[in-house]
Amino acid sequence: MIDRSIGGAIDSALDRMLHSIDPVIAGVLNRAIDGKDVEVEEACELFECSREDEVDAMVMVADMLRRTRVGDHVTYVVNRNINFTNVCIKRCGFCAFSRDFREDEGYLLPVEEIVRRAEEAYRLGATEVCIQAGLMPRMDGMLYIDICRAIKRAIPDMHIHAFSPEEIKYGALRAGMSVEEYLKALKDAGLGSIPGTAAEILVQEVRDTISPGRIKVRDWVSIVKMAHRLGIPSTSTIMYGHVESSMHKAMHLALIRDIQRETHGFTEFVPLSFVYREAPMYRYGLVKGVRAGPSRDEVLKMHSIARIMLNNHIPNIQVSWVKEGLDMCRVLLNAGANDMGGTLINESISTAAGAMNGQMLRPREIRALIRGIGRVPVQRDTLYRRLRVFDGKEEHHQDPLDTVEDTSIFGSYHELIRLDRFKYKRSHPYS
Ligand code: SF4
Repeated sequence: MIDRSIGGAIDSALDRMLHSIDPVIAGVLNRAIDGKDVEVEEACELFECSREDEVDAMVMVADMLRRTRVGDHVTYVVNRNINFTNVCIKRCGFCAFSRDFREDEGYLLPVEEIVRRAEEAYRLGATEVCIQAGLMPRMDGMLYIDICRAIKRAIPDMHIHAFSPEEIKYGALRAGMSVEEYLKALKDAGLGSIPGTAAEILVQEVRDTISPGRIKVRDWVSIVKMAHRLGIPSTSTIMYGHVESSMHKAMHLALIRDIQRETHGFTEFVPLSFVYREAPMYRYGLVKGVRAGPSRDEVLKMHSIARIMLNNHIPNIQVSWVKEGLDMCRVLLNAGANDMGGTLINESISTAAGAMNGQMLRPREIRALIRGIGRVPVQRDTLYRRLRVFDGKEEHHQDPLDTVEDTSIFGSYHELIRLDRFKYKRSHPYS
């Protein structure tokens, strides 16, 4: 139960608003304020509302719930993305990152290069590497396990956040192991957590439209639950703004919440806007009725409703600076979100799809943004343990990554797909 007296002025403004808007919307928001779980149909009403004062009220409720649940800290992680190959057997309609193995732009980073990138990140203060990639046609199923082993051998302290449920399913298949055996082997090799990507919208009819051949809902759910049972936590995500309806988004959130009630294995929820510019299903008109990503209002509602629906179960709602840009991040951190994600260093997947917000942020840039909205920056690890609270005394703190002026030393995605050195060949080990 939330104390409505918290927040004084803002709460009286909210109370006035709740009395002036549609009683159905006000009723749903009041239930959320009272600490009740909002149901699918109710969330659907929230997604459907279009009056400005109703969206404002929703945002205020989400912000109030965030403040009560996690306070004024805004967290971030110092990490590096390593998308070690873009060669993939699948053709997901939204994916502009993947290449067929015969295409010129196919690349593959050898294990030594993956380790070198992880070591470089570690020296610059990273606590996590986030590893995801395409599914190579004849991939050696031991590759993912060997990557974990090699990184841990070189950097025992590094947290490995890697391999979506789609990759785990494929790795297990290629290795001739059950998913359970494969997850255990990955954990033994040093895997710390998995990204809850490959979720898009967890409604089969939507998946069949935008990415036939993608991992089925039932397999995604069973792999995530299995990972959680084995002590491997994961994030959770949604990719929206394409063909889905309000009901689909509400069902997706409810499914994530149901899994969390059972396993408690999700660390966070990350709304991901569909980046349409280079996505094949948009660019070549492959899917009828596909939208050009979500509108600003849809993004705002998505983050607020995620907070409202998940607040009792998943404390952390992350904003994706890569997809939304920094101005929108400021808005979303006042609309239910409390986490800025990572420094990334080598963001590739959204960049390939046409996102134009850069491939890395320095920790000091993240902290400045958080301070700029009057909140407290907190460096966290992957599992949301606080590593450093920047409560004012450390304003001039510099991380090693803050001192890197020339980010071209990390290489860009557009360079990578042209480099001869890492060009994909079928003769490569593991390929
Ligand atoms: S989203 Fe993943 S599985 Fe689908 S085509 Fe892209 S890289 Fe391949």
